[in-house]
Amino acid sequence: MSSPPIAADFVLTNARRVVTPSGPAPARGAEQAHVVTIDEGTVAAHHGRIVFVGTASEARQRVQLDPGATELDATGCTIVPGFVDPHTHAVYAGDRRDELRRRLAGATYAEIAATGGGIVSTVKETRAASEQRLVDESLPRLREMLRCGTTTCEIKSGYGLDVETELRMLRAARHMAGRQPIEVVTTLLGAHEIPIEWRHERDGFVRIVCDEMIPAAAREGLAEWCDVFCETGVFTPGETEAILRAGLRHGLKARLHADELGASGGSQVAARVGARSADHLVHVDADGIAALRAGDVTATLLPAAAFYLKLGRFAPARDLIAAGVPVALASDINPGGGFSPSMPFAMALACFGMKMTLEEALVAATLNAAWSLDMADRVGSLEAGKQCDLVVVNGDLVDLVRVGAGAVRTVVKRAEVVHAAR
Ligand SMILES: [Zn+2]
Repeated sequence: MSSPPIAADFVLTNARRVVTPSGPAPARGAEQAHVVTIDEGTVAAHHGRIVFVGTASEARQRVQLDPGATELDATGCTIVPGFVDPHTHAVYAGDRRDELRRRLAGATYAEIAATGGGIVSTVKETRAASEQRLVDESLPRLREMLRCGTTTCEIKSGYGLDVETELRMLRAARHMAGRQPIEVVTTLLGAHEIPIEWRHERDGFVRIVCDEMIPAAAREGLAEWCDVFCETGVFTPGETEAILRAGLRHGLKARLHADELGASGGSQVAARVGARSADHLVHVDADGIAALRAGDVTATLLPAAAFYLKLGRFAPARDLIAAGVPVALASDINPGGGFSPSMPFAMALACFGMKMTLEEALVAATLNAAWSLDMADRVGSLEAGKQCDLVVVNGDLVDLVRVGAGAVRTVVKRAEVVHAAR
């Protein structure tokens, strides 16, 4: 008995190959490298969802196109899932590229901060910006991300550090979700830094985050996640845990910045509170790795941040994978050091700086990134039932990590072409 035809209103044909993670998320250990490769692959979708992934000959037998269906020719190309960027600070006002020039000329972060630069200057500009200005200044960043193949991203607040501005940043991020093709998930990062006016009484600021910011963000439905910058000199493990638990009480899921500049106990906090993701981990130690494994926490690595901050080292991706911790990748777009909107650049650094394989990096930038945002049921792989979010790569998978070569030819979101390189 032959199976009934599959109706489709979108089909991508003639691809050299389709390469995608498949199966349950997250992928950990040896599974981190598991991808399915289909030569001469076809992807078909109906009403924005994938209905078929397979070979061209199988598609000819089974897929029946609706009249007026979109047909996309991918001759000579490789098809991968749309990238999921699970850690960005893409909403902010002002510009700190001048600081980059100074840092390259030898200025330290402390010297820049002493002259009013650093995060303090972004906080000042962001507090002064209207929601509309935040949207206007941030939309071009999302356009750049889209051109690099990102179809879903997370955006954090964190440059207001007061209730009003944090909420305004989240509203701006939500607003942008409807103004461009990238699907946006929002995170309250009210505890990004202790604002200057609270440095004499940090407990008071922690109370404001827990008792005012978190309830207000939850009440307005502005954030799905709660994040804290857990680092020596910023928020202690105890403060981080208190804030994340307050978030959980209000229905905000936990993720955090952990062990970026030192082994500060962030990984252990992540495990204790049941965070979905611990991010950065440049200095995570063996105890931290064991905690992440035991707590089933995703290690979201941001090698572009380590690169642009000239940290001189990257997170120990191989140790994390060997321990069975699922690894995801993110761009960390931010005004101070997150200068690349490109997930393929993060993949290149993962391969050449952290010794990950190309397949591991692809899984990290798609399925595991989707898992870290609790979205793996909808995005992150090319499988029937998921959203038809994909990237058409000129050439082979390896062309993605040829930084600057412009390998991203076409970007598709929910079966619509949302970017086509000229
Ligand atoms: Zn960050």
